[in-house]
Amino acid sequence: MLMKGKKGIVLGIANKKSIAYGIAKACRDQGAELAITYLNERFEKKLAPIAEELGCAERLYPCDVSKPEEIKALRESLERDFGQIDFIVHSIAFAPKEGLSGHFTDISKEAFNVAMDISVYSLIEVTRELKPILSDKSAVLTLTYYGGVKYIPNYNLMGVAKAALEMTVKYMAEDLGRDGIRVNAISAGPIKTLAAAGIGDFSFMLKWNAAHAPLKRNITIEEVGNSGMYLVSDLSSAVTGEIHYVDGGFNIMGMPAVEFDEN
Ligand code: NAD
Repeated sequence: MLMKGKKGIVLGIANKKSIAYGIAKACRDQGAELAITYLNERFEKKLAPIAEELGCAERLYPCDVSKPEEIKALRESLERDFGQIDFIVHSIAFAPKEGLSGHFTDISKEAFNVAMDISVYSLIEVTRELKPILSDKSAVLTLTYYGGVKYIPNYNLMGVAKAALEMTVKYMAEDLGRDGIRVNAISAGPIKTLAAAGIGDFSFMLKWNAAHAPLKRNITIEEVGNSGMYLVSDLSSAVTGEIHYVDGGFNIMGMPAVEFDEN
């Protein structure tokens, strides 16, 4: 039981296909006590049975990260019900539809700001607000994608947000290291989730990844879950500021390994 005695909050479960669910489940299976959040009323009912399954029916809180008062209320709820916590999983991203297809240069300032606010700034704000209740050996984990490092068709605005998120992880890791807080990201390969459905031609991304990754397949939320559990557990006690790829090795490829007929 690698997570026995650990308490954590997981933000970003929309359903059982969510990466956040995979991470929460892996942590729970290893003995962690959890609290989870839902975005709005629409998700509250859907999350009740998931919270039940994860052993945290009484710790299911609302948290729309675009509303500072909900982040503050989350801290109060956690303090009341949990006292201290040992880890935060931030598995949240959003970009308006116009930012996920079409011409990159047409993206409006409004869409840009929304994506940066929800997908990047929320990591800073949630961590800052919850810092007073973080234990002195704690871990923060967020989720990124390779489209923040290299061009990926249609990932557009989210690519820019992920680039900012990855640097945010590094600056936060330095800033919070002296307080015993580690900050890391998992860069996951493509997985069919609710968020992924918003990205233009996502099925092509899945096909391309499976065809060109060294493992020759796509990855699962269980695999991201296990790696996420490692990054919030004491097993990774000397790891911080890291972007850890869980992508079947796709990111190491400079060229697809295809054979050409020389004739
Ligand atoms: P998902 O739709 O299951 O999860 C996204 C979550 O973000 C949802 O629970 C949604 O409610 C939440 N969210 C959106 N706006 C919010 C707000 N204002 N306040 C609070 N929560 C909000 O999809 P997912 O694929 O599991 O996404 C989780 C994370 O993983 C995201 O950061 C995503 O970019 C990242 N990621 C996904 C993939 C993939 O292919 N699915 C690959 C790499 C990284």
